[in-house]
Amino acid sequence: MAHIVLTGGAGFLGSHMCDRLLAENHTVTVVDNLSTGRPVNLEHLAGESRFTLIQQDACAPLEVDGPVDYVMHLASPASPPDFARIPFECLRAGSFATHNMLEFALNRGARFLLASTSEIYGDPPAEFHPQTEAYAGNVSPIGRRSVYDEAKRYAETVTMTYQRECGLETRIVRIFNTYGPRMRPDDGRVVTNFICQALRGEPLTLYGEGKQTRSFCYVTDLVDGIYRLLLSDEPEPVNIGNPFEFTVRTLAEKILELTGGASELVTVPLPFEDDPKQRKPDISKARHVLGWEPKVSIDEGLGYTIDYLRDQILQTQ
Ligand code: UDP
Repeated sequence: MAHIVLTGGAGFLGSHMCDRLLAENHTVTVVDNLSTGRPVNLEHLAGESRFTLIQQDACAPLEVDGPVDYVMHLASPASPPDFARIPFECLRAGSFATHNMLEFALNRGARFLLASTSEIYGDPPAEFHPQTEAYAGNVSPIGRRSVYDEAKRYAETVTMTYQRECGLETRIVRIFNTYGPRMRPDDGRVVTNFICQALRGEPLTLYGEGKQTRSFCYVTDLVDGIYRLLLSDEPEPVNIGNPFEFTVRTLAEKILELTGGASELVTVPLPFEDDPKQRKPDISKARHVLGWEPKVSIDEGLGYTIDYLRDQILQTQ
């Protein structure tokens, strides 16, 4: 069984990744500064002898005992409101922290996996829809999202350079919109906003006209794809996401239906000028190379997420 060092393990995705790795009988050391991650996401692992949490920044020198087989760099703020709230943390997570964890992996003879993002495709025009891994992107280098998008693009570059120049084994997953339990209720993303608004009887806020599209993947499906990639021989980036695409307005209507809420839909100005108008992964490569595809339907996944957020809201009342 392997020892995996996982940055960002207290976050939404990271904590589900921990659960999967431990279920596969691995040993997990999480590195997390709890900037956007939350200890509550790991509370259920207290007393697990194969699990350790080191509370520190992924940019800081790291000391870990014993052999390390895999390094997974998931640490980064990832919700659009965080791009404005903590822009330097986004930049540092993609740049200095990626360098630091690559050096750590190289020194320890470990394979390195980078959590990249569909944001590296930016705002793709119609001829690059859905997005394949070959699409190079349409990203503003100076927009409000650029602190995340460009940092992740840089992270991919530096990862590929360690692979080419240092012979480090690396994997890159491009993660599309993901949702599920353990998202922060106040993270400002569309799924959490709409569900919390519906449960509280508040208006659902459509940014712009709500005509923009996204494709949402349930978290356990995503974690399965990342785990398969980690163990695979694929050295180049792989999209992991659910290709089922719909508009933000349709998402709002679906959430009202599933929560039984009666809130109205209101339109408000787009907070970021560089908000992508459409996004959908082409997952041919993941299907072919990893034998992976998502299994959880949007209704089922939203159901679990609604139950979780309902509990969270009740706890804070
Ligand atoms: N959005 C919205 N209302 C909200 C929050 C977000 O209409 O209350 C829109 C947002 O403008 C974007 C989409 O929903 O077009 C997805 O936003 P999210 O922040 O979840 O992730 P993104 O895909 O933009 O990174």
